[in-house]
Amino acid sequence: MLQNSIEFVRCNGSKSLAPELMAQLFDCYPPIYAEAPWFEWKKCSVCKRQWGTVHQEELALTDFMHCGEPLVEFWPRATVESDLKEAMDASGASFWLALQGNRLVGFCYGYAKTPEKLEEQMERPGLALAVKEKFGASVRYVAYQADIALIPEFRGRHLASQMFELRRKDFLAQGMQIGVVRVKMDPPSVTYLWYTTKLGYEVISEYHDAGKRVLLARSL
Ligand SMILES: [Zn+2]
Repeated sequence: MLQNSIEFVRCNGSKSLAPELMAQLFDCYPPIYAEAPWFEWKKCSVCKRQWGTVHQEELALTDFMHCGEPLVEFWPRATVESDLKEAMDASGASFWLALQGNRLVGFCYGYAKTPEKLEEQMERPGLALAVKEKFGASVRYVAYQADIALIPEFRGRHLASQMFELRRKDFLAQGMQIGVVRVKMDPPSVTYLWYTTKLGYEVISEYHDAGKRVLLARSL
C-alpha cells in the first residue's frame, strides 16, 4: 500500500528542512534514546549515572533524586536542537530522514572529520595515530557515522540498512574513504554486532567506561 511506503529524504542543511519536520525530529529523539539499549532518559548531574524509561518505577521510589539532587533530562531539548542542527550543517554532512507520508519515522546522519578533530571530539588520545597506522598516513578525513535511529514500530524492516547504505554512498561521493562509528561492546549492542560481524568493522580505540564503548573503523 502506498501509504505504508517509506521514502528517504536527504537533508541539505538545517535551513533547508521544513519547520514541521525539524520539530518532529527533535520530538522523536529523546524517547528513542530513553529506551534500550541506550537508557538515556534521566541522569544524575553529580555522579553521571543514567537511567532509561524502563527504570521509571525504581526512580519513583527515590522521588527522582540521586546524590541529593533531582535527576535531570539526559537529552534536554536545547541540546538535541543544537547538536542535530550542527550535524546537518557540518562539513561533509550526510543527514537522512525516513518518512512515511509526512510522518518522520527515523533518521541517520554523519559527517566528515579530520582524524585529529575526531580524536578531540571523541576524547580518545591516540585515535588519529591509530587511524593512520591502519589506513595510511594520507587519510585526511574520515566519515564519522553518528546515529541511525527508527521509532520502535518501524524497526526490523531493513530501513536502518537502507539508510546506512545511502549515507555510505554519500560519504564516498564526497571523497571520504574511511568510516568510523562508536558503539557499546559489553554487553555487545545490536549496533556493535552489526558493524563487526556483518560489515567487518574492527576496533581501533577502546574506552574503559561502564558500557565498554569502542570506536570501530573500516574502509567504506
Ligand atoms: Zn548520583
